Amino acid sequence: MASSILFNNGTHKNILLEEFGTGLAVQANQHLVIHGDSAMILDPGGHKVYNKVLSETLSLLRGGAKLRYLFLSHQDPDIVAACNGWLMTTDVEAYISALWLRFIPHFGLDRLVEDRLKPIPDAGMTLDLGGAPLLFVPAHYLHSPGNFQVYDPVSRILYSGDLGASLGMDYREVTDFDDHLQYMEGFHRRYIASNRTMRAWAAMVRTLDIEMIAPQHGALFRGKEHVNRFIDWCEGLACGVDLLDDVYKIPGR
Ligand code: FE
Repeated sequence: MASSILFNNGTHKNILLEEFGTGLAVQANQHLVIHGDSAMILDPGGHKVYNKVLSETLSLLRGGAKLRYLFLSHQDPDIVAACNGWLMTTDVEAYISALWLRFIPHFGLDRLVEDRLKPIPDAGMTLDLGGAPLLFVPAHYLHSPGNFQVYDPVSRILYSGDLGASLGMDYREVTDFDDHLQYMEGFHRRYIASNRTMRAWAAMVRTLDIEMIAPQHGALFRGKEHVNRFIDWCEGLACGVDLLDDVYKIPGR
């Protein structure tokens, strides 16, 4: 497991943990935000990476911050499958959309830790990370119906969850935006609900000052130019129910 520092001003740090070569499982990024003595991990992943992400996180925090929060963008197994392990081995409070609160226990949540699973209201919320306000912004239907992204006003990173996911290339940062589209297109056309959703998201995030967009899978977008190109691309993409014409057909007919 490799880690790289995306932002560091002394009291505030954003660290990317990344894992490649997980076999059939989709490549995933885990992100750690540290402010002073408090830390939050985002979308820590499933059982396959649990041990490595936990030990890497604890070693990055050694002698400094305490892991206080776990952010879960949505309910997919690559996000939440190991939630019970995190709650059992640490004191974290885990946050997930209120829509999924009663589904997560199906991943095997011990009664002991159930009260540390907290709902994010549909409209989003601000979480105080040791004095730094992190925004949980709505990203519903991108792709999950109960879905959130995290905007960090200190580093100006937008953690976009599955939006911006790319699969099949081996670089960590996008350098050639046009060439990168081939690794994003298929996923977004099929997994994202509709262009109407994309346009609503684009209008919302254009009101934020964003220096980096960091998805949970694949490469990140650094700098205003790539950030804006990505938002424009989302805004113009036909996806999901926009492309239904050839979907509803009885197989074999
Ligand atoms: Fe997902």
